[in-house]
Amino acid sequence: MNADQTVQSSAWPEGVVARYLTLVGATVDVRANGLLSRFECTGCPVDSGPWPHNMAHERAQAHAEKCRALPRPEVGK
Ligand SMILES: [Zn+2]
Repeated sequence: MNADQTVQSSAWPEGVVARYLTLVGATVDVRANGLLSRFECTGCPVDSGPWPHNMAHERAQAHAEKCRALPRPEVGK
């Protein structure tokens, strides 16, 4: 993972099928697993699911719209 790349251009973590960008630059990542998906926020500790895919996407988007937590800068290197 390259910390110097922007969120939009950096490689997605393995298994992430969708990403919702929050207003402050964190992302809410949706991971699919079989018939279910779960989502986690890179800004705050939210990790929710599993949900049916459509619900996971809806909830991930809803979370991205209101979450104001900043993504934690990557440490070390
Ligand atoms: Zn969040």
